[in-house]
Amino acid sequence: MKNNSGNGDTKGRVSSFQSLGAVDGPGIRFVVFLQGCPLRCVYCHNPETWSIQGGIEMTANELYSKIKKYKNYFGKNGGVTVSGGEALLQVEFVKEIFRICKENNIHTALDTSGMGCEDEESLRQLFSLTDLVICDVKFASEENYKNLTGGSLEKVLHFLELTKVCKIPVWLRQVIVPGINDDHLSIKKLNDIADRYENVEKVELLGFRKLCISKYDSMNMEFKLKDTPETSEDTILKLYKHINKR
Ligand code: SF4
Repeated sequence: MKNNSGNGDTKGRVSSFQSLGAVDGPGIRFVVFLQGCPLRCVYCHNPETWSIQGGIEMTANELYSKIKKYKNYFGKNGGVTVSGGEALLQVEFVKEIFRICKENNIHTALDTSGMGCEDEESLRQLFSLTDLVICDVKFASEENYKNLTGGSLEKVLHFLELTKVCKIPVWLRQVIVPGINDDHLSIKKLNDIADRYENVEKVELLGFRKLCISKYDSMNMEFKLKDTPETSEDTILKLYKHINKR
Protein backbone atom coordinates (compact mmCIF):
# COMPACT_ATOMS: atom_id res chain seq x y z
CA MET A 1 0.00 0.00 0.00
CA LYS A 2 1.34 3.40 -0.98
CA ASN A 3 0.67 6.54 1.00
CA ASN A 4 0.26 9.79 -0.94
CA SER A 5 -2.04 11.11 1.80
CA GLY A 6 -4.31 14.05 1.12
CA ASN A 7 -5.06 13.85 -2.59
CA GLY A 8 -7.06 10.63 -2.77
CA ASP A 9 -4.25 8.74 -4.52
CA THR A 10 -3.54 6.52 -1.52
CA LYS A 11 -3.83 2.93 -2.71
CA GLY A 12 -5.28 -0.01 -0.85
CA ARG A 13 -6.32 -3.58 -1.49
CA VAL A 14 -10.05 -4.19 -1.54
CA SER A 15 -11.68 -7.61 -1.22
CA SER A 16 -15.29 -6.72 -2.08
CA PHE A 17 -18.17 -4.23 -1.63
CA GLN A 18 -21.73 -4.41 -0.45
CA SER A 19 -23.56 -1.46 -1.99
CA LEU A 20 -26.72 -1.37 0.18
CA GLY A 21 -25.88 -3.05 3.48
CA ALA A 22 -28.19 -2.76 6.49
CA VAL A 23 -26.36 -4.60 9.29
CA ASP A 24 -22.93 -2.96 9.60
CA GLY A 25 -23.83 0.32 11.28
CA PRO A 26 -26.86 2.63 11.27
CA GLY A 27 -29.13 3.04 8.22
CA ILE A 28 -28.35 1.98 4.66
CA ARG A 29 -24.61 1.69 4.08
CA PHE A 30 -21.98 1.13 1.43
CA VAL A 31 -19.72 -1.48 3.03
CA VAL A 32 -16.13 -1.89 1.88
CA PHE A 33 -14.34 -5.12 2.82
CA LEU A 34 -10.59 -4.64 2.81
CA GLN A 35 -8.00 -7.29 2.22
CA GLY A 36 -5.63 -8.62 4.90
CA CYS A 37 -6.18 -9.87 8.45
CA PRO A 38 -3.76 -10.60 11.31
CA LEU A 39 -6.27 -12.88 13.07
CA ARG A 40 -7.36 -16.44 12.27
CA CYS A 41 -10.74 -16.63 14.01
CA VAL A 42 -11.91 -20.20 14.27
CA TYR A 43 -15.38 -19.23 12.91
CA CYS A 44 -14.14 -16.88 10.13
CA HIS A 45 -16.53 -16.65 7.16
CA ASN A 46 -14.10 -14.83 4.92
CA PRO A 47 -10.76 -16.66 4.70
CA GLU A 48 -10.30 -15.19 1.21
CA THR A 49 -9.62 -11.82 2.91
CA TRP A 50 -6.70 -13.08 5.02
CA SER A 51 -3.89 -12.39 2.55
CA ILE A 52 -2.85 -8.75 2.21
CA GLN A 53 -1.83 -9.58 -1.36
CA GLY A 54 -5.34 -10.66 -2.41
CA GLY A 55 -8.26 -8.63 -3.76
CA ILE A 56 -7.79 -5.71 -6.13
CA GLU A 57 -5.71 -2.58 -5.74
CA MET A 58 -7.46 0.77 -6.06
CA THR A 59 -7.06 4.37 -4.95
CA ALA A 60 -9.30 6.09 -2.41
CA ASN A 61 -10.61 8.32 -5.23
CA GLU A 62 -11.49 5.28 -7.35
CA LEU A 63 -13.32 3.78 -4.39
CA TYR A 64 -15.17 7.02 -3.71
CA SER A 65 -16.35 7.16 -7.32
CA LYS A 66 -18.22 3.90 -6.56
CA ILE A 67 -19.50 5.11 -3.17
CA LYS A 68 -20.94 8.38 -4.49
CA LYS A 69 -23.40 6.57 -6.80
CA TYR A 70 -25.21 5.37 -3.66
CA LYS A 71 -25.08 8.58 -1.64
CA ASN A 72 -28.77 9.32 -2.18
CA TYR A 73 -29.72 6.02 -0.53
CA PHE A 74 -27.87 6.79 2.72
CA GLY A 75 -30.57 9.15 4.04
CA LYS A 76 -30.08 10.72 7.47
CA ASN A 77 -28.42 7.79 9.27
CA GLY A 78 -26.64 5.76 6.61
CA GLY A 79 -23.18 6.11 5.15
CA VAL A 80 -19.97 4.17 4.60
CA THR A 81 -18.61 1.29 6.68
CA VAL A 82 -15.07 0.05 6.16
CA SER A 83 -14.62 -3.53 7.28
CA GLY A 84 -12.36 -6.49 6.48
CA GLY A 85 -10.43 -8.69 6.78
CA GLU A 86 -9.04 -6.19 9.25
CA ALA A 87 -9.35 -2.59 8.08
CA LEU A 88 -6.67 -1.34 10.50
CA LEU A 89 -3.98 -3.17 8.52
CA GLN A 90 -4.52 -0.47 5.86
CA VAL A 91 -5.01 2.47 8.20
CA GLU A 92 -3.65 5.09 5.76
CA PHE A 93 -6.09 3.96 3.07
CA VAL A 94 -9.01 4.02 5.54
CA LYS A 95 -8.03 7.52 6.67
CA GLU A 96 -8.08 8.70 3.08
CA ILE A 97 -11.47 7.10 2.33
CA PHE A 98 -12.95 8.63 5.49
CA ARG A 99 -11.41 12.03 4.74
CA ILE A 100 -13.15 12.08 1.36
CA CYS A 101 -16.41 10.87 2.93
CA LYS A 102 -16.33 13.59 5.60
CA GLU A 103 -15.67 16.24 2.91
CA ASN A 104 -18.89 14.98 1.31
CA ASN A 105 -20.90 14.86 4.57
CA ILE A 106 -21.08 11.07 4.66
CA HIS A 107 -21.25 9.19 8.00
CA THR A 108 -18.22 6.95 8.54
CA ALA A 109 -18.07 3.68 10.49
CA LEU A 110 -15.04 1.50 11.11
CA ASP A 111 -15.77 -2.20 11.62
CA THR A 112 -12.72 -3.72 13.30
CA SER A 113 -11.43 -6.32 15.74
CA GLY A 114 -9.34 -3.55 17.31
CA MET A 115 -6.16 -5.35 16.26
CA GLY A 116 -3.96 -4.49 13.29
CA CYS A 117 -2.57 -1.03 14.12
CA GLU A 118 -0.80 -0.15 17.34
CA ASP A 119 0.42 3.27 16.21
CA GLU A 120 -1.48 5.61 18.51
CA GLU A 121 -0.96 8.71 16.38
CA SER A 122 -2.35 6.95 13.28
CA LEU A 123 -5.35 5.75 15.28
CA ARG A 124 -6.00 9.24 16.67
CA GLN A 125 -5.90 10.68 13.14
CA LEU A 126 -8.28 7.96 11.97
CA PHE A 127 -10.67 8.56 14.88
CA SER A 128 -10.81 12.27 14.03
CA LEU A 129 -12.50 11.16 10.76
CA THR A 130 -14.63 8.35 12.25
CA ASP A 131 -18.24 8.75 13.43
CA LEU A 132 -18.66 5.23 14.81
CA VAL A 133 -16.41 2.30 15.70
CA ILE A 134 -17.95 -1.17 15.57
CA CYS A 135 -15.54 -3.34 17.56
CA ASP A 136 -15.93 -7.09 17.32
CA VAL A 137 -14.58 -8.36 20.66
CA LYS A 138 -14.03 -11.89 19.42
CA PHE A 139 -13.84 -13.45 22.88
CA ALA A 140 -13.94 -11.85 26.33
CA SER A 141 -11.22 -13.97 27.96
CA GLU A 142 -7.55 -13.76 27.06
CA GLU A 143 -7.32 -17.55 26.87
CA ASN A 144 -10.14 -17.96 24.34
CA TYR A 145 -8.99 -14.92 22.38
CA LYS A 146 -5.48 -16.31 22.01
CA ASN A 147 -6.48 -19.92 21.34
CA LEU A 148 -9.35 -19.22 18.95
CA THR A 149 -8.12 -16.16 17.01
CA GLY A 150 -4.33 -16.05 17.52
CA GLY A 151 -4.67 -12.46 18.78
CA SER A 152 -4.63 -10.68 22.14
CA LEU A 153 -7.62 -9.36 24.09
CA GLU A 154 -5.28 -7.02 25.96
CA LYS A 155 -4.49 -5.20 22.69
CA VAL A 156 -8.21 -4.87 21.93
CA LEU A 157 -8.82 -3.35 25.37
CA HIS A 158 -5.99 -0.91 24.73
CA PHE A 159 -7.68 0.03 21.44
CA LEU A 160 -11.02 0.53 23.24
CA GLU A 161 -9.29 2.71 25.84
CA LEU A 162 -8.12 4.99 23.02
CA THR A 163 -11.66 5.21 21.58
CA LYS A 164 -12.76 6.33 25.05
CA VAL A 165 -10.04 8.99 25.30
CA CYS A 166 -10.99 10.20 21.80
CA LYS A 167 -14.72 10.10 22.71
CA ILE A 168 -15.71 7.98 19.69
CA PRO A 169 -19.09 6.20 19.93
CA VAL A 170 -18.57 2.43 19.95
CA TRP A 171 -20.81 -0.56 19.33
CA LEU A 172 -19.41 -3.84 20.57
CA ARG A 173 -20.14 -7.12 18.83
CA GLN A 174 -19.55 -10.76 19.51
CA VAL A 175 -20.34 -13.95 17.62
CA ILE A 176 -21.87 -16.47 20.03
CA VAL A 177 -20.51 -19.96 19.38
CA PRO A 178 -22.30 -22.89 21.09
CA GLY A 179 -20.05 -24.61 23.62
CA ILE A 180 -17.46 -21.82 23.53
CA ASN A 181 -18.97 -18.50 24.66
CA ASP A 182 -22.71 -19.12 25.03
CA ASP A 183 -22.50 -19.42 28.82
CA HIS A 184 -23.36 -16.81 31.45
CA LEU A 185 -19.77 -16.32 32.60
CA SER A 186 -18.56 -15.48 29.08
CA ILE A 187 -21.42 -13.04 28.57
CA LYS A 188 -20.79 -11.45 31.96
CA LYS A 189 -17.19 -10.82 30.91
CA LEU A 190 -18.37 -9.18 27.68
CA ASN A 191 -20.90 -7.11 29.64
CA ASP A 192 -18.13 -6.00 32.03
CA ILE A 193 -16.03 -4.82 29.08
CA ALA A 194 -19.01 -2.87 27.67
CA ASP A 195 -19.67 -1.23 31.04
CA ARG A 196 -16.01 -0.29 31.50
CA TYR A 197 -16.08 2.17 28.57
CA GLU A 198 -18.68 4.94 28.80
CA ASN A 199 -18.45 5.54 25.04
CA VAL A 200 -19.79 2.03 24.32
CA GLU A 201 -23.41 2.61 23.31
CA LYS A 202 -24.59 -0.93 22.72
CA VAL A 203 -23.64 -4.57 22.41
CA GLU A 204 -24.76 -6.78 19.52
CA LEU A 205 -24.76 -10.57 19.86
CA LEU A 206 -24.56 -12.46 16.58
CA GLY A 207 -25.36 -16.11 15.98
CA PHE A 208 -22.67 -18.52 14.75
CA ARG A 209 -23.50 -19.71 11.20
CA LYS A 210 -21.94 -22.26 8.88
CA LEU A 211 -22.80 -20.84 5.44
CA CYS A 212 -19.07 -20.61 4.75
CA ILE A 213 -18.39 -24.37 4.70
CA SER A 214 -18.62 -24.65 0.90
CA LYS A 215 -16.21 -21.71 0.61
CA TYR A 216 -13.69 -23.52 2.81
CA ASP A 217 -14.16 -26.70 0.74
CA SER A 218 -13.54 -24.82 -2.50
CA MET A 219 -10.37 -23.30 -1.00
CA ASN A 220 -9.21 -26.75 0.16
CA MET A 221 -9.26 -25.60 3.76
CA GLU A 222 -10.74 -27.20 6.83
CA PHE A 223 -13.52 -25.36 8.69
CA LYS A 224 -12.67 -26.38 12.24
CA LEU A 225 -16.18 -25.77 13.60
CA LYS A 226 -17.99 -27.83 10.96
CA ASP A 227 -19.50 -30.08 13.65
CA THR A 228 -20.53 -27.23 15.97
CA PRO A 229 -24.27 -26.46 15.83
CA GLU A 230 -25.47 -23.01 14.72
CA THR A 231 -26.69 -20.65 17.48
CA SER A 232 -30.43 -20.59 18.12
CA GLU A 233 -32.37 -17.32 18.30
CA ASP A 234 -33.58 -18.44 21.71
CA THR A 235 -29.99 -18.61 23.02
CA ILE A 236 -29.25 -15.12 21.71
CA LEU A 237 -32.39 -13.70 23.33
CA LYS A 238 -31.56 -15.32 26.67
CA LEU A 239 -27.98 -14.05 26.63
CA TYR A 240 -29.12 -10.49 25.84
CA LYS A 241 -30.76 -10.43 29.29
CA HIS A 242 -27.24 -10.33 30.80
CA ILE A 243 -26.19 -7.32 28.69
CA ASN A 244 -26.85 -3.86 30.13
CA LYS A 245 -26.24 -1.88 26.92
CA ARG A 246 -28.51 -3.34 24.26
S1 SF4 B 1 -11.08 -10.78 12.09
FE1 SF4 B 1 -12.72 -11.23 10.61
S2 SF4 B 1 -11.66 -11.66 8.68
FE2 SF4 B 1 -10.12 -11.80 10.31
S3 SF4 B 1 -10.04 -13.96 10.83
FE3 SF4 B 1 -11.47 -12.98 12.24
S4 SF4 B 1 -13.50 -13.22 11.32
FE4 SF4 B 1 -11.95 -13.62 9.71
